[in-house]
Amino acid sequence: MDTINNKSINDAALVVLQTKIKQIEEALKHVDKPGFGKCRKCSQSIPEGRLLLLPGATLCVRCA
Ligand SMILES: [Zn+2]
Repeated sequence: MDTINNKSINDAALVVLQTKIKQIEEALKHVDKPGFGKCRKCSQSIPEGRLLLLPGATLCVRCA
């Protein structure tokens, strides 16, 4: 039973990681474009910490 529970926990963690990887890959496509790291709404810089947490973020904390 423990094995089954551990497997579903691992599967869930895997899905979370795969989603993160997709977001990072998506962000990397835009990383050398001029608008990267800037909020789409107010053009303020998005803090690095937020970009690390949400690599696909296109809005600053205030506009999100
Ligand atoms: Zn903003």
